[in-house]
Amino acid sequence: MLKKIEHLGIAVSSIDETVKTFESLLGTPCYKTEEVASEGVRTAFLMIGESKIELLEATNPESPIARFLEKKGRGIHHIAFEVEDIDAELSRLTSEGFQLIHQSPKDGADNKRIAFLHPSSTEGVLIELCQEKS
Ligand code: ZN
Repeated sequence: MLKKIEHLGIAVSSIDETVKTFESLLGTPCYKTEEVASEGVRTAFLMIGESKIELLEATNPESPIARFLEKKGRGIHHIAFEVEDIDAELSRLTSEGFQLIHQSPKDGADNKRIAFLHPSSTEGVLIELCQEKS
């Protein structure tokens, strides 16, 4: 079951240069920055109500964020939904014909297990499922 929008991911060319903009916009400080080496990204999180904004910066030219910025420019990169049971949700979505980028969950930022759906089956929108690690 999808529970809520957990966060919106925004691709930025530099977290150091953009975090202040979002801190001013939301009126709240960034509470965490974290590098996810396996994905080639550095992330920064800001809380807004029950949801978060995740800023994503590439840490190498092969990073999915570097490729996204090259192709589409900066902007909204993905929508992340919180799920109760990510394994069950991936099975359900596969059986409903959605195309997965990750067949099984992997470790993501902010203490989460995550998996992405391919945008070709979700109207061009990159979707992340995430489950809080217990
Ligand atoms: Zn995310």
